[in-house]
Amino acid sequence: MDINQIINELGEDRDLYFRAVAPPIIQTSNFTFTTVEALRTSFENEYSDYLYSRGKNPTVSMLCKKLAALDGAEDCLVFNSGAAATFAAVLANVQQGSHIISVNQPYTWAQKMFDSILPKFGVTITYVDGTTVDNFINAAAANTEVIYLESPNSWTYELQDLKAIAAFAQSKKILTIIDNSYCTPIYQQPISLGIDITIQSATKYIGGHSDVVAGVLCASSKIIERIFNSEYLNIGSGIQPFNAWLLLRGLRTLPIRLAKISETTKVVLAFLNNHPQVEHTYFPLQEGSPQLPLAQQQMKGACGLITFVLKANKVEQIEAFCNALQHILMAVSWGGYESLIIPKCAGMPKESFDAKNREHRMLRLYVGLEEPTYIINDLLLGFAAM
Ligand SMILES: *Cc1c(COP(=O)(O)O)cnc(C)c1O
Repeated sequence: MDINQIINELGEDRDLYFRAVAPPIIQTSNFTFTTVEALRTSFENEYSDYLYSRGKNPTVSMLCKKLAALDGAEDCLVFNSGAAATFAAVLANVQQGSHIISVNQPYTWAQKMFDSILPKFGVTITYVDGTTVDNFINAAAANTEVIYLESPNSWTYELQDLKAIAAFAQSKKILTIIDNSYCTPIYQQPISLGIDITIQSATKYIGGHSDVVAGVLCASSKIIERIFNSEYLNIGSGIQPFNAWLLLRGLRTLPIRLAKISETTKVVLAFLNNHPQVEHTYFPLQEGSPQLPLAQQQMKGACGLITFVLKANKVEQIEAFCNALQHILMAVSWGGYESLIIPKCAGMPKESFDAKNREHRMLRLYVGLEEPTYIINDLLLGFAAM
């Protein structure tokens, strides 16, 4: 379906709400029935009806239709966070004794689930360098149930060959899950490459305004119905109607925000690549990026996130750089209207900073909707303060 139609029209029926242009927020916990028979039918098939808003809700359903269509998926569930979507996707597809293969260094809370929660139930995990398909093939065992991917990751942007990994997984009946937060379905459509489940943090680009935390899980109707009737209803972490409405609003401008951010990112990246105090930059779609051919093959674009390495001997220089910024905000997350920065050294004790370790000198910049010169002038203040 045409993307304009998905964003502007799909799932919306204005005759149901006074022909209002903006959809209503159906802020209700429960739905009423006029006959016992109708209530009984609803109990029997909550997946297809409005009974109680921990399950289905019309504002949320409208959002789900759009997000599923954007992903090229049959159906979708939206959670109260990306972390909840990740947790449900994995939990729904393992049992006691299962084995998971995950790409190295997945998103922090995916890794914590693999390392601290799932082992309590006898689920084991093998981490692999995802840049080589053979590493997945070699790690697979008879009890491997899930391959967990994140491509690109959101610090150093390593990719996995989604088509090849999906083909291998299908041949072994292993389910594949990808965290697609970096690209969004606008820039990467893993389901069309054979991946079973996509998840993304809607907190980032889908919301787009740094005012809502949410997560998306897309898959076939069969998988979605199974997860809905179990983990979704049981964890009870479905998105609330008002937050769903904020995401509907965010979606209206998603393609144009991504296009603008992509343009600005190119300019800021060129500036950083030419700056004498920058040792290296990481960005998946630039000349010299180690997996550029794969990125060009499976991604339509990249935007917003640039990781750069400062030439610095002391942690104080990196701190001075960040502390001098007047407009770029120091904060976690990304995907909103505002540019952000986060230095790797903030995540470690100051004493353990080692200038010889390139990773310690990394900063991740998120390029927002400001004009390039506004961002670059601010970065110049940072460089001057070093
Ligand atoms: C933010 C993020 C998540 C988690 O999403 P929340 O909405 O914060 O729970 C998962 N994966 C990636 C890559 C993220 O950046």
